[in-house]
Amino acid sequence: MGKVDPRTKGVVPPLHLSTTYLRDEDNGYSTGFVYGRPDNETIREAESVLAMLEQAQAGALLFGSGMAAATAVFQALSPGDHVVASKVMYWALRNWLLTEATRWGLVIDFVETDDLEALEAAVQKGRTRLVWIETPSNPLWTITDIAAAAEIAHAAGARLAVDSTCASPVHSRPLQLGADIVMHAATKVLNGHSDVVAGALCARHNDELWQRIQTVRRGQGGILGPFEAYLLMRGMRTLHLRQERQSASAMALAQRLSAHPLVSRVLYPGLPQHPGHDIAARQMEGGFGYMLSIQLSGGEAAAVKTAANVQLYKRATSLGGVESLVEHRASIEGAGSPCPPDLLRLSTGIEDIEDLWADLDQALAAGHR
Ligand SMILES: *Cc1c(COP(=O)(O)O)cnc(C)c1O
Repeated sequence: MGKVDPRTKGVVPPLHLSTTYLRDEDNGYSTGFVYGRPDNETIREAESVLAMLEQAQAGALLFGSGMAAATAVFQALSPGDHVVASKVMYWALRNWLLTEATRWGLVIDFVETDDLEALEAAVQKGRTRLVWIETPSNPLWTITDIAAAAEIAHAAGARLAVDSTCASPVHSRPLQLGADIVMHAATKVLNGHSDVVAGALCARHNDELWQRIQTVRRGQGGILGPFEAYLLMRGMRTLHLRQERQSASAMALAQRLSAHPLVSRVLYPGLPQHPGHDIAARQMEGGFGYMLSIQLSGGEAAAVKTAANVQLYKRATSLGGVESLVEHRASIEGAGSPCPPDLLRLSTGIEDIEDLWADLDQALAAGHR
């Protein structure tokens, strides 16, 4: 961001689409660009913005989706390697770990990583290669202490990776707290406009794991397309403004919903009664994120009916866009999900807070009728 095109002085960098590059007379590539699958200038520019946002000394890598980014980390490990992962996490990744990763020979233990004693007990010195946490974790918004998890992982000789999608680099920079790798579903708040599917990894050290991850992306062709990288950069220009507004609105909604007679529980790390609040206050800055969940006193039927009655909120999956979304997660996540059936997940957009509140209030009333 802030990069000016050297020839035209355009304040927006041009979009580079070429998949191939002229060789030098000696058949070499003095520019460093060879082919579109390993590399692209627009991708590099978006990666440098991400590396700056996460203060990632070893840089950032963009992938075709959040799942492509996350799975590249596991594919960089070897069959037989032991992994400890959060029990509460993005459901599609948990399913992938349980099926594909296990098939490939990874041995994975799932623990409640907000419980540091459980994490410590699950990590095996000399055998565990990776600890994977998500904080705040989708869709219960539990908080894992990143610095403590990094200490536990490192003491066992493992690396710590953090899915920081729902914190975003505006509120949390896990690499500064001791994590080795940060993952983002850039599809969500980083792009913020619900029109790009993208994923990112950022690393602190250019170590063997990071080099393996680069080999995986190059070989498997998981790189993001340049159009998407261009849109992502356009989205990231307003990341801080959107995030400020979304987190402030999420906090206000969480407070109001806590006092709502039809809501039995509000899950949001910004609330003092949230079990992870103190850690979140320590490791997050400027807000607690745009995601919250509510449990309804009318149970599952009321949850489904409340979602059916929203007018401003969109009844849709995904999160982090400028439009507010509501979803009944239990019907999506299926068996094995820790998500209670009476829960609605709310992604807070940038609409007027009073309009959002009025919509939730009327939908809750209609849902309990
Ligand atoms: C959406 C999401 C992912 C997966 O990202 P995709 O771009 O959909 O592949 C991973 N983790 C979290 C927390 C997410 O919300």
